[in-house]
Amino acid sequence: MCQHCQADARMVSRREKWISSLLGELRLKRAYYHCSACGQGWFPWDQEVGLGASHLTPAASEVTCLAGVQASFAQASETTLRKLCGLRISESTVERTTESAGERLRARPSPSCRESLNRGSGSVTLWAARVLT
Ligand SMILES: [Zn+2]
Repeated sequence: MCQHCQADARMVSRREKWISSLLGELRLKRAYYHCSACGQGWFPWDQEVGLGASHLTPAASEVTCLAGVQASFAQASETTLRKLCGLRISESTVERTTESAGERLRARPSPSCRESLNRGSGSVTLWAARVLT
């Protein structure tokens, strides 16, 4: 059943995706569903496990944000993430992932988070951690 319009939807195919996880690179094949009534398509498994448009798992995304707020995005990409967990992702992915988490938080900060943000850069770690857990 379509999650957008409740019409009947059908599985169209199984589609491949490479993802970066804390256990390394993984190749997945997951079912793709499409609704001919409203034209929407989706991957139920991706939604179930929290995979977004990014190639990072939720845990890899969280670790990336934590590394991204500790130092420069370049250092997170070239040193921190590789040494801590073997993640090999580009500086631009670290930047995009960290800033995306910040934007999500900025859109709906809790009162305690907003207060932390107002106190200065020391709250950035809390800021990234809260939005991803
Ligand atoms: Zn639909």
